[in-house]
Amino acid sequence: MQTNTVVALKDIVVDFDGQRILSGLSLDIHDKEFVTLLGPSGCGKTTSLRIIGGFLEPKSGHVYFDGKDITRLPPYKRQVNTVFQKYALFPHLNVFENVAFGLRLKKTPESEVRQRVIEMLELVGLKGFERRSTVTLSGGQQQRVAIARALVNHPRVLLLDEPLGALDLKLRKEMQIELKRIQQSLNITFIYVTHDQEEALTMSDTVVVMSGGIIQQIGSPQDIYNEPVNSFVARFIGESNILDGVMMRDFQVEFAGQSFSCVDKGFAPREIVQVVVRPEDIKVVPAIQGQLTGIVETVIFKGVHYEMHVRQAGYEWIIHSTQASQVGELIGMCIGPDDIHIMRAERE
Ligand code: ATP
Repeated sequence: MQTNTVVALKDIVVDFDGQRILSGLSLDIHDKEFVTLLGPSGCGKTTSLRIIGGFLEPKSGHVYFDGKDITRLPPYKRQVNTVFQKYALFPHLNVFENVAFGLRLKKTPESEVRQRVIEMLELVGLKGFERRSTVTLSGGQQQRVAIARALVNHPRVLLLDEPLGALDLKLRKEMQIELKRIQQSLNITFIYVTHDQEEALTMSDTVVVMSGGIIQQIGSPQDIYNEPVNSFVARFIGESNILDGVMMRDFQVEFAGQSFSCVDKGFAPREIVQVVVRPEDIKVVPAIQGQLTGIVETVIFKGVHYEMHVRQAGYEWIIHSTQASQVGELIGMCIGPDDIHIMRAERE
């Protein structure tokens, strides 16, 4: 465990109805970090969050907070609060009283309640909404109340379980930026759960990609995007071309029937690998100048770029380009050494 680790999961196993949901999950979460658990539905993200919050006890394994074993500590004794997707605000209480609720339970003096609630409402951009009934608020405003209510107790760690899932796309994007700002201004740890890769890449310091109750990769958004460790991560984080290849020697890889310079080394001679090339990293050039040539099969306008499907020998490539080629056109494709990402053969 590193010195700035605030929450550590060690060999966590969870079974439901005889089915293994988490298979020996270990994870260190650093203080003041924005960490996102990312993965498809049912991969165990919420279950991991419930373990950290104390709402679920693992079959085996340990949870540590600041190095102390809290595996059997009840939720209300943990320095952790949770924001759920369904905000569960109290409809009979106004905005102020919803946020004040936890402080009142703890019999906090009235003057302090006032000061802390106002401070939190200001932080989430709801100053002046104190007396409003929560049922008259928009979805985004209700979400802000839920966040203020979770933060008013000054938790060291805030758990957020798909908190933006119910919002429309525009509001979602606004709230992503807001949440990042709130996390930075409070300087506390956020552990965020989502199945939306773009959301994870936008907000996080660290992304934990999960599949089938197992961590596939932990890294910065850039690492996860640029250096996926396996085809699951490569496919889950944005669109990719994934091809079988052979490392001929250090810095030289063969795929799609051609030899390419790359930046990878340390593989066995003629080691079988998988090669990832992002659609936006393929340069379209006149056929005569291409390292590969292919026939354009479809062109779809996507707003900021055109998505083209290109058939080259036995392969179908996806290319994103700001210039549209014509369907049926023979084009050249160039891929720079930095844009070729080599993965060891499958370890999913
Ligand atoms: P989602 O994004 O859909 O919420 P998730 O990654 O958060 O998915 P979990 O909610 O952790 O996934 O669920 C993991 C698996 O455990 C699922 O197959 C789910 O059906 C199962 N599961 C979760 N809670 C229970 C429970 N209380 N009883 C039985 N099975 C459960």
